[in-house]
Amino acid sequence: MNFSLGYLATGRFRWVVYATIFSLVITIIFWGQGYVKDHMVERYLVYKNGEKLGAVSNPEVINIWLEQKQKELSTKNPQVILVADAGGLTYSYEKAFRAKIDNSSVIHRLENGLLLKATGVEIQIDGKPVGTVKDTDTAQGILDQIKSKYTPERKVLALSLNESQKAGKPMVETNDFLQKVSMVKVNTNPENITTPEKVASMLESGNAQPVTYTVQAGDCVSCIAKKFNISSDVIYQNNSWIENDFIKIGEQLDLTVLQPMLSVKTVETRTDALEIPLGVIYEKDDAMRAGTSEIVAEGKNGLKKVVYRVTKINGRLVEEVPIDETLVEAPIDKIVKQGTKVVKGNGTGSFAWPIYGAKLTSEFGKRWGKLHAGTDTVSSNRTIMSADHGKVIFAGEKSGYGNCIMIDHQNGYTTLYAHLSKIEVTDGQLIEKGEKIGVMGSTGDSTGVHLHFEIQKDGQQENPLKYLSK
Ligand SMILES: [Zn+2]
Repeated sequence: MNFSLGYLATGRFRWVVYATIFSLVITIIFWGQGYVKDHMVERYLVYKNGEKLGAVSNPEVINIWLEQKQKELSTKNPQVILVADAGGLTYSYEKAFRAKIDNSSVIHRLENGLLLKATGVEIQIDGKPVGTVKDTDTAQGILDQIKSKYTPERKVLALSLNESQKAGKPMVETNDFLQKVSMVKVNTNPENITTPEKVASMLESGNAQPVTYTVQAGDCVSCIAKKFNISSDVIYQNNSWIENDFIKIGEQLDLTVLQPMLSVKTVETRTDALEIPLGVIYEKDDAMRAGTSEIVAEGKNGLKKVVYRVTKINGRLVEEVPIDETLVEAPIDKIVKQGTKVVKGNGTGSFAWPIYGAKLTSEFGKRWGKLHAGTDTVSSNRTIMSADHGKVIFAGEKSGYGNCIMIDHQNGYTTLYAHLSKIEVTDGQLIEKGEKIGVMGSTGDSTGVHLHFEIQKDGQQENPLKYLSK
């Protein structure tokens, strides 16, 4: 039987054949499409700086790995903030038939090329970098610590009198660095991050080289200061054990001059309570004798509150200006009454020599078993003067005394002048201190020209030399 295709194609069954082939082809197409569909893979190609590293299922895989890496780093290095840098990664998405994904191989390649970078905060003084620390908090902490050294206790001043009387509790107004201080965030190598202590020391000492000196014979604090061309203050500050400038041979002195890079300017207000001294008012009183006085009112010092604005640089006073003054209590003047009344003949209570250039020949005291009640003097000048103001109560001859004058000074004292050759006053006469009353002589019981002079106080004999300057 000739069973050719031509026959089939042309035979009576041809429609059946066509339909069978057609349905077969359709079946194969649909089946194939399902197979392909089932074997298509979604993936992300990973490129580092343009170089293809491989394919991952999702960029999230890389991100999670990086985050994990970051956590590990910060646990291992708490002093430094490290950043894991995998490089510039790009991803390209694709969907391909039976494509390969290998997350761990991509991560492995990234791990090998991982860069560790530190982040830090650089402290700059007037634009000049001083050091880099871990973070802003650390930098701020160093600056605050330096500032706080020059910040007195922040206390609010109580304005009551009792509080203000307590001396100077300063109140800080401002507290600033004189230099421009900036903090700049930087990325750097981990080894460039320094400790806060190192940066603080740099800021405070300016990297000064330590200088020590051994005290030698003949040294003194100011001599050493001069020798090294430094201030004595530096020596006292660095060597606080020195007391009263006392240094011994062989002792070690620290002469390091710090050059702080930062200066703290503090402006404070301080309130002081100051005494206002009282004044004294003198009132003349003509009912009181001249030379006497009497306190009428004691008076009282006043009180004022003065507010000063005090400027300090690194704790050293540079300016102090009074900015406010309040009177708390006005002073009360002391009042003194002074007598002006002059009474002629009233003694002052102090005595002058009754002769010029007196030469003592016999003193007051026991003489030949008897009291010599006065002082004997001689002088080439024979003028006799009253020793104080007074009133003549006797002027004449007296047994043993010869020509004699007695003067009552009307203050309890009486004086006596004896052996005069001449009396020049009369009984009852008012006499001034230093006024001539007679002439020296040798009348009465006398062996030569001299003055016998007596002082009585309330009727009792006194040694005249007690009252006369020698
Ligand atoms: Zn005598």
